[in-house]
Amino acid sequence: MEDTFKKVIIKDLIMRYNRQALYLENDALLRGKKVAIVGIGALGSVAAELLVRAGIGWIILIDRDSVELSNLQRQSLFDENDVGKMKAIQAKEHLDKINSDVTVEAFSEDLDYENIDLINADLVLDCTDNLETRHLINEYCNKKKIKWIYSGAIQNRGFIFNVIPDNACFNCIVKAKHGVETCDTVGVLNSITHTIGSLQVNEAVKLLLNKDYEKDLMHINLENNEIKKLKVNKDSECEVCNGNYEYLSGKQENKLIKLCGTGKYQIKGDFDFEGLKKRFGKEGDVIILDNLTIFKNRVLVKAKDEAEAKSLYSKFIGA
Ligand SMILES: [Zn+2]
Repeated sequence: MEDTFKKVIIKDLIMRYNRQALYLENDALLRGKKVAIVGIGALGSVAAELLVRAGIGWIILIDRDSVELSNLQRQSLFDENDVGKMKAIQAKEHLDKINSDVTVEAFSEDLDYENIDLINADLVLDCTDNLETRHLINEYCNKKKIKWIYSGAIQNRGFIFNVIPDNACFNCIVKAKHGVETCDTVGVLNSITHTIGSLQVNEAVKLLLNKDYEKDLMHINLENNEIKKLKVNKDSECEVCNGNYEYLSGKQENKLIKLCGTGKYQIKGDFDFEGLKKRFGKEGDVIILDNLTIFKNRVLVKAKDEAEAKSLYSKFIGA
């Protein structure tokens, strides 16, 4: 009986991955790999879906934000029923239905220097929209010698770069700590986020199977369908490559940030979460009010500007 059951399971697995196994040598090795995806927006939802379909054994999803109507234009894991709910949790719900063989863990958290061990995996995919988190991932992966893939997309163009231990790191090439353009101010097409997400997964599979990978920084422009490959050199003066980790030590942490969405701010703080639950008559890990979503150590505030965000925070949370 048990043997028959095992045969059926193995037959199912062979069927499920048949098309990629015909092409991809050692495809079965993917079943033993763990990948962390930071940011489940446009890039992250493409990467997560493709990796789950390809049968990566274990996927970690980390995202600090909830789904908005304006996300549905490109964040293809989500639908109208997900609006207002946390991205990581909703993504897991969809991914579990796509491939129940994959272990998917979801964290509705802001990745920071305190919970950074969440991304301890065989490979990390950066699908975030901000430089601060990228520098944090870069420092952690540099320290732990974990491979990670930087990706980014705006308007109709994007970047991908494989960050491999001992080669040039993200800080070797990007010194800026804060971005200038964000999706709020310049917009983004769904065709570029899907293109970049697919190319990132393509590199991910190569890295997971120890195949030859792209060494250059890739720049893709869909205006004229141009792919540029830029040579990247290790910077001997690079702080990170020399073991100085500012983000990992918490020195660079920003308590108030504007999220890449429609008028949403995140404010971190030390407050009495249990007390707030009682005050607002709520239960569970998150308190949802009209303009505030309150977690254990942070609050998402819908506001027209920073001043209004701060004022709503102090009104409902305290100083
Ligand atoms: Zn470096």
